[in-house]
Amino acid sequence: MADGLESESRKLLGRLRDTMAEQAAGQERLDKITHLTADSMGTEVCSIYLFRDSETLELCATQGLKAESVHQTRMKLGEGLVGRVARTGKTVNAADAPSAPGFRYMPETGEEIYSSFLGVPIQRLGEKLGVLVVQSKQAREFTADEVYALEVVAMILAEMTELGAFVGEGAALTRRHTQPVMFRGATGQEGTAMGHVWLHEPRVVVTNLVTDDPETERERLRKAVDDLRVSVDQMLEGADSGGEEVQVLEAYRMFANSKGWLKRMETDIDRGLSAEAAVEKEQSTARARMSQVSDAYLRERLHDLDDLSNRLLRILTGQGRETGSEMPEDPILIARNIGPGELLEYGRSLKGIVLEEGSVGSHAAIVARALAIPLVIHAARVTNEALNGDHIMVDGDQGIVHLRPDDTVVAAFRDKIAMQAQAQERYGSIRETKCVSADGCRVELHMNAGLMADLPSLVNSGAEGVGLFRTELQFLIRNQMPRRTELAQLYARVMDAAQGKRVVFRTLDIGSDKVLPYMKPQDEPNPALGWRAIRVGLDKPGVLRMQLQALIRAAQGRPLTVMFPFVAQYSEFADARAEMDKALAREERLGHPIPSAVEVGAMLETPSLAFASSKFFEEVQFLSIGGNDLKQFFFAADRENELVRRRYDTLNASFLTFLESIVTRCRESGTRLSFCGEDAGRPIEALCLAAIGIHTLSMRPASIGPVKSILMRTNLAEVKAALDAARNRGDQNLRGAVMDYLRENGWAVA
Ligand code: PEP
Ligand code: MG
Repeated sequence: MADGLESESRKLLGRLRDTMAEQAAGQERLDKITHLTADSMGTEVCSIYLFRDSETLELCATQGLKAESVHQTRMKLGEGLVGRVARTGKTVNAADAPSAPGFRYMPETGEEIYSSFLGVPIQRLGEKLGVLVVQSKQAREFTADEVYALEVVAMILAEMTELGAFVGEGAALTRRHTQPVMFRGATGQEGTAMGHVWLHEPRVVVTNLVTDDPETERERLRKAVDDLRVSVDQMLEGADSGGEEVQVLEAYRMFANSKGWLKRMETDIDRGLSAEAAVEKEQSTARARMSQVSDAYLRERLHDLDDLSNRLLRILTGQGRETGSEMPEDPILIARNIGPGELLEYGRSLKGIVLEEGSVGSHAAIVARALAIPLVIHAARVTNEALNGDHIMVDGDQGIVHLRPDDTVVAAFRDKIAMQAQAQERYGSIRETKCVSADGCRVELHMNAGLMADLPSLVNSGAEGVGLFRTELQFLIRNQMPRRTELAQLYARVMDAAQGKRVVFRTLDIGSDKVLPYMKPQDEPNPALGWRAIRVGLDKPGVLRMQLQALIRAAQGRPLTVMFPFVAQYSEFADARAEMDKALAREERLGHPIPSAVEVGAMLETPSLAFASSKFFEEVQFLSIGGNDLKQFFFAADRENELVRRRYDTLNASFLTFLESIVTRCRESGTRLSFCGEDAGRPIEALCLAAIGIHTLSMRPASIGPVKSILMRTNLAEVKAALDAARNRGDQNLRGAVMDYLRENGWAVA
């Protein structure tokens, strides 16, 4: 770039900085910026359009258009050229604007005399704030240098907005991070919580945006990038080879050594940006790209670049993760994503969790579920908006988050929490009561668990036992394979805490969405249908054997119940059972006490097992339906895919009929049957499962009260009759019939 242009650009940025430093009201500053920009770029017009709300842009300052149109002219997102820039986040450069696609003439502005148009988005870290426009009478396309210069001004504007430079009297903008915002995400873990924001990664605040001394800034940047490279290399040396962490660090190293990245930032510095501002400009570009890329791998790499930019900013500003702020009362953790180990470190101190990413089956979600902390995932942009200490409400049932809620929302939310507390009190009164339906059918209610931390719930919830102990959590939260003695101690503590109540230990269920950090990841085209659970256990039996030994030793002569996950055919069960028998014989030989009774069962998670031979049903001591997996395979609808996971109802006639056929087979063979998927914890679903004859349900502890309450007050035979009648009528979905039945019987159901 020509030296002249560079110094022009630096001059403009210097004047912008002076504007920021002056004591002035927000509107005055905006006006001055339009004036300076038009002057510097040699255009007749410069205008700033900012978002009034998420859909509407408003002309907030102008040099050249009619002054009376300021704060009057508004347009919708996508409307006209300005709306187009805002919607797409892309620059529009038109020599003959009136003939450009989408042009819309705003008569009150007097813009009809201007031919050329250059509009760039004002955005900060991927968040859209407005549009900056220059126009001139002369019909000409703007040069690449001019486009770049305007983009830099837009970036400074975005940073100034963040710093609150445009608020005050006659203000164009209200102060940022003060307004109520609602985020609509998805449910990761049900439950509600109210508290204050605690950012997992506090934002880096950049206050020096502009420089007159590019040499020094270049030097600072180079030094920081050098430090960054060294720290990435050190992290790589310390990482376990082959793990996912190494892949991420390799990507970090690649970016940290990228000449293009450094070059772009240096060019920004030459144009007048400080080293920090140059890093942020690159980061913003990457974030904007991130929102448009659908390829998961590329998105991950852009995330890596984003993380790396944060690290670089921390080096440059000296701001660490520790900001000195204290964790607020009732902390609600806000993060883009978080690993299971980090989440466990926070433990139960958290009242709620909100993630921008995550998935229902992610390790973090599994831990949140185990800790019974309400979790909302896919809350886009929440880390941009939230500030430490902000008031926040998390509705894990609806997947909604209210940040800085206004009084009416707070009141409604408080009512909801109070109603839930009342209900909990009611449930408390029936905690010790065995669950028997109104027509005398006994239904056993057990709880699902996976961590030692879950065990106190066995007493608090009134569960009759642990119907599913997911042993993989102990493997997922570590950086290396746990040892046999460690596992034996843990399982023994679980049995101690259960005080003689039955605990069904499910052997390691890994693969698919649950990938161990220290296991070589398999490159599988479709992991949910891939090498997972018992398939891994049988093909590489070392871990399965170690786990069975640990379980036998933990029992110390007490009864032991073991369940194998994801059994798709009889031989898999027979082989796993044989491993159990071998382990028992070996332990006996070694002189260890043998459990007083051993029960071995399987999870029914693939439709194939429902059609296995009678011999299998006779041999297996119990079956537990893993409804989460069974449903995804029955409907061929990925349980992790937001596009399809809610598409098919559990109360779909086909699925219920299928479940009923499993009940029949188990009855014929006298096989004990239970259901341990998430649906067991949903009152209406639980009612239907019990009505069709599944009389043992295992669920998260918080669901036991609501499920017990509805079961005890309902006549299961009548529910069954309502289901049958609807099915005979040809209803595809039987939910309506159950809801009608409940309404007719005095339940206030929606
Ligand atoms: C299931 O599939 O329903 C189940 C209980 O197992 P998981 O959710 O752990 O796959
Ligand atoms: Mg499963």
